[in-house]
Amino acid sequence: MAEATPALEIRNLHKRYGDLEVLKGISLTAKDGDVISILGSSGSGKSTFLRCINLLENPHKGQIFVAGEELKLKAAKNGDLVAADNRQINRLRSEIGFVFQNFNLWPHMSVLDNIIEAPRRVLGQSKAEAIEVAEALLAKVGIADKRHVYPNQLSGGQQQRAAIARTLAMQPKVILFDEPTSALDPEMVQEVLNVIRALADEGRTMLLVTHEMGFARQVSSEVVFLHQGLVEEQGPPAQVFDNPNSARCKQFMSSNR
Ligand code: ADP
Ligand code: MG
Repeated sequence: MAEATPALEIRNLHKRYGDLEVLKGISLTAKDGDVISILGSSGSGKSTFLRCINLLENPHKGQIFVAGEELKLKAAKNGDLVAADNRQINRLRSEIGFVFQNFNLWPHMSVLDNIIEAPRRVLGQSKAEAIEVAEALLAKVGIADKRHVYPNQLSGGQQQRAAIARTLAMQPKVILFDEPTSALDPEMVQEVLNVIRALADEGRTMLLVTHEMGFARQVSSEVVFLHQGLVEEQGPPAQVFDNPNSARCKQFMSSNR
């Protein structure tokens, strides 16, 4: 039987900043419904990897496929690969949700306006339609009563849940999370993890960079451990957490319990 087309496939991704090669050839495949956690020490290239997937950063080598469609890239003068087709990258960016450590909500817009902006502008939804979807999503992440307030009137955990609702409103095929709870006070971490867990349970395809090891272990179908821009260990959570082949991975796990 033929394999199903992966939701996301990255092949041999390389990225450098000047002379520093930060990603040295990373490949990763996420099937529909996969939750892949990406672990590694600070500076190992986790954020850079996620950011290259939707060209927030430009790689200099590699291929990216979203639901089987290859992102068209061309070499710029400095050797970076940039989008070769602006319409395609805009569409693919809307299919790849990105949740940042610092929420990145628009401060001058209410929570509701934050959520309906892109669906109206990019997906062409009517205002009424976008509001209906947004209100359902706010209820889903547990902040239905906050729709008219501004981001600075929310706690960090509420802001991150609003940011997740904003991402979901674009109906992404894949969601990338870059340390979604790292900027939160400890008492707010759980409410955000609960939302992410619910998304995993409903079969969303997600890549998750996190230092929440217990959570990653529970929620992931696969765990990838990065070291200096390379995949050092990769496999099911039980293997990577309890029985890694790599001594570096073992060391990382024992010092991050
Ligand atoms: P992680 O998210 O795993 O902590 P990053 O992807 O942020 O790691 O960084 C990987 C490496 O790339 C680090 O050495 C970091 O200093 C470097 N780096 C990240 N962003 C830039 C940048 N904009 N310019 C130069 N170097 C960068
Ligand atoms: Mg990072």
